[in-house]
Amino acid sequence: MGIWKLLNRILRYVMPYRWLVVATLLLTLLGSVLAQVNAVVLDRAVDAINVLDQQPSMSWASALRILTIISAILLGKEVLAAVVNFFRRYYGERMRIFVNRDLSLQVIKHVLTFRMAFFTSTGNEAGRLQARIDKGVASTSMAVNSFFIDILPLFTSAVLALVLMFMANVFVGLVALAIVPVYFYVTYIQAERMRDGRRGIYEGQQAVSQNILNIIESIPVVKSFNREQIEHDRQQEVQDRLTNLQLSTRKKSYFFTGMKGFLEQIGTVLVIILTAYLVLIDYPGMTIGKIMYHVMLFANVSAPIRQLHRIYDDLNDALIYSEDLFGLMEGTEEVEQTGDYHPEEVTGRFEVKDVDFTYPNGVKALHDVSMVIEPGKITALVGMSGAGKSTVVNLLDKFYHPDSGEICFDGVPIDQWDTQWLRDHIGLVMQKNHIFDGTIEENILYGNPKATHEDVVRAAKQAFLYDQVMQLPEGFNSSALRLSGGQQQRVAIARLFIKDPAVIILDEPTASLDAIATEQIKASIDAIKKGRTVIIISHNLGQIIDADQLYVLEEGRVVQSGKPAEVYQQGGVYKEIFDASARSMNADKIAEVMDN
Ligand code: ADP
Repeated sequence: MGIWKLLNRILRYVMPYRWLVVATLLLTLLGSVLAQVNAVVLDRAVDAINVLDQQPSMSWASALRILTIISAILLGKEVLAAVVNFFRRYYGERMRIFVNRDLSLQVIKHVLTFRMAFFTSTGNEAGRLQARIDKGVASTSMAVNSFFIDILPLFTSAVLALVLMFMANVFVGLVALAIVPVYFYVTYIQAERMRDGRRGIYEGQQAVSQNILNIIESIPVVKSFNREQIEHDRQQEVQDRLTNLQLSTRKKSYFFTGMKGFLEQIGTVLVIILTAYLVLIDYPGMTIGKIMYHVMLFANVSAPIRQLHRIYDDLNDALIYSEDLFGLMEGTEEVEQTGDYHPEEVTGRFEVKDVDFTYPNGVKALHDVSMVIEPGKITALVGMSGAGKSTVVNLLDKFYHPDSGEICFDGVPIDQWDTQWLRDHIGLVMQKNHIFDGTIEENILYGNPKATHEDVVRAAKQAFLYDQVMQLPEGFNSSALRLSGGQQQRVAIARLFIKDPAVIILDEPTASLDAIATEQIKASIDAIKKGRTVIIISHNLGQIIDADQLYVLEEGRVVQSGKPAEVYQQGGVYKEIFDASARSMNADKIAEVMDN
């Protein structure tokens, strides 16, 4: 993206605050004029004092008058400048903060509409996506800052000072002007030389924090395997790389700072020599006060340019990272598709016809899958790990779209369904359910924000969670994150009960529960399954046997289907899985123990 395109896109987010921009710019102009006052006053003052000094009998009254005028102007200007600068900074900062807020909100608002495939694609993993958003928002609002708060004031001040120098004397103006391109050139070289270093430092900092995060997340494994030293060495490696890069980048930066300081001094010396020469040869309009005048004006020309490389860096960053940000904020290709079909009554019948499906990373997970899932019945998906069971569920919930084939819900292709409406009628309990940072009540209410406390209590009772919650000192107001894995699973099941959907999908819902809890949950699922569609993925024989219909998957294909007993009679994968489960449970011995 070029700089003008960037400005154009940023402008859309700045437009709502155009009055702040106008106010900032007017104040900037005023500030720039005020910045030249010192030079003008000192020019006049030196000349006036010089004239006074030359007189044979010096008048103290006149001296006092000059000093009073100088003091009044300088102090008055300083008060005015303080007020102007306060409002200029405040309005400028206000605008930057608002734009930053709008960008952050807009990006999240838009990302929330993206389809699931976006979030599972490489480069969009939680940490990386977050870093991309952070960097994008920070660098884009920094660009707003650079344009409206840095560049404009600095340059109006520099241009004004140059104009005054030219007005006083063309030659001095030319000398000052000649320094500017040299300065620009050095700045350009500096930014180019340091660009890789800066990028490397940013990546290095990310690597360091990512590593710290990994250590904290895997601390039980690190400790139990005594791998502290390995982790420390790994951290040392990324830290060393970062440190070396920081040192070399700083070294370069100081070299350029020194060089620019030197250039500035050369400029100042040239201005002094030239002005002094012009004064000595009595060039018209050149008085001793002009030396001071020119030096001060030249400082106003060079000071802004000193900041140039920082602005250059900021704009470069914005050019690099804002493209991605604008893609996240405005791109349409990742937005989830939705139809508009949303009938009042939902029966809950799925029909999957000849579906092939490939994940965004190229893994082909389903081949020619067909199934019919009836309401009022329990349909179990059986198969070994990686067979494609969860993938089927992902497609039913419209998280992904099939490569080919069709899925119908109540006879209508799910593409034509209003996606939110469809999901409103599907309750999904997964193996690992997300528990949000909040109370147990808030987590259960996530299933239906309009529900009352009584509904929460009822759902908790149905999920056999109520008694356990009541034992906690803060009851339903306790933090849900502190619950055990099994209790969190019950929160997820309570969330399902409070949602009360027509279709219930359970992806190994009792995998992390103990036997008693599993039995209780089975009982409550049995209680609510009437009149609903229940789809269950489970390795638990008890849950599979109870199903009305089985689909057995192997390597993404449906290899067997029918009622559990019939499918068992067919032999094949299901019999293998069934027998192995029974053996692993040591069913014979269990029966023996129970008989005795
Ligand atoms: P199951 O639920 O039967 O254990 P899955 O449906 O989870 O199996 O996985 C089927 C295949 O799809 C596996 O090969 C798995 O590695 C792959 N897979 C699952 N989820 C993703 C994903 N988000 N991206 C890419 N491949 C995936």
